Amino acid sequence: MGDIIAMTATRVRADDKRIINNKAVDVNQLIPIKYAWAWQYYLDACANHWMPQEISMQRDIEQWRNPKAFTDDERLAVKRALGFFSTAETIVANNVIMAIYKFITAPECRMYILRQAFEEAIHTHAYGQYMPESLGMDTGELMNMYREVPAIHDKEEFGARLTVDILQPDFETESFSGRSRLLRNLIGYYVVTEGIFFYTTFVMLLSFGRQNRLPGVCEQVQYILRDESMHLNFGLELIHAFIRENQDVWTEEAKAWALEAVKEGVQLEYRHAEDSLPNGLLGLTHQMMKQYVEYIADRRLERLGLPKPYGTSNPFPWMSEVIDLRKEKNFFETRVTEYQTGGTLSWE
Ligand code: FE
Ligand code: MN
Repeated sequence: MGDIIAMTATRVRADDKRIINNKAVDVNQLIPIKYAWAWQYYLDACANHWMPQEISMQRDIEQWRNPKAFTDDERLAVKRALGFFSTAETIVANNVIMAIYKFITAPECRMYILRQAFEEAIHTHAYGQYMPESLGMDTGELMNMYREVPAIHDKEEFGARLTVDILQPDFETESFSGRSRLLRNLIGYYVVTEGIFFYTTFVMLLSFGRQNRLPGVCEQVQYILRDESMHLNFGLELIHAFIRENQDVWTEEAKAWALEAVKEGVQLEYRHAEDSLPNGLLGLTHQMMKQYVEYIADRRLERLGLPKPYGTSNPFPWMSEVIDLRKEKNFFETRVTEYQTGGTLSWE
């Protein structure tokens, strides 16, 4: 008889649960739930389940094969988008599982984190395998963009650096410095990587859809955007709960770090947009992309309770409509219903 699982007569009380450093109660007991919002995110995310191969790429394939259907600039922009996402999604998944899961000790938060990790796998599947292989792209070229294209490299390293930081062997979350570093990881990933770095690429890909081009890619991007909005919103709830329980780490210095991280993210994102759309396309100019990144950054900072430095208005009001569609009952209902009642899905 070992004591890896300690024998005890004491039952878990919800009030004793903690977002991190949960020492008072057993971390393996989901019930009783303390963080009801986290449980609700888990249920909502599961209700949104989708898989890439359910979406037809047929029209996309016909369009992509037609030499006249895309300009060279458009082809470059699509390839850069898939190349960026194919590894970025994996880097986010790695951080979620190896860093965040390890140190977030509320079981109901862990349930959502596990669901998020699977969604990141689905996104890697879509961007890294299903879309590019359907279109006959050179996947080696896409997978290596983060090591060959500076604008993509720098965005992905922004996150990877924050993962490496908390995977150091001496990392712990008891000390002020350890808790501060974990908070930086959460803000860096949920707010900057998932909250800013994905968005100009979403705009660009969805702009093709608005012209009835790449419909299969765009349908998948809409599902991904819906998942990513939940990751961002869950992340913000998690950050706020973390800060409520660890108020000492939300110092002026921490706030200044968060503001600088967002500003750095804006610069990196704008540079990426400029690099992927060297001449502008689809009616998207550099100026509009810059405005959009600033607009998004202000909204993220507002959610963190920080000042909004840009004051820029949204140049793509239709993007808010796309994001709000996730709340509209009928938009995704067909697929979700098929899933829940199907039972006859064939797995090839
Ligand atoms: Fe993702
Ligand atoms: Mn995500």
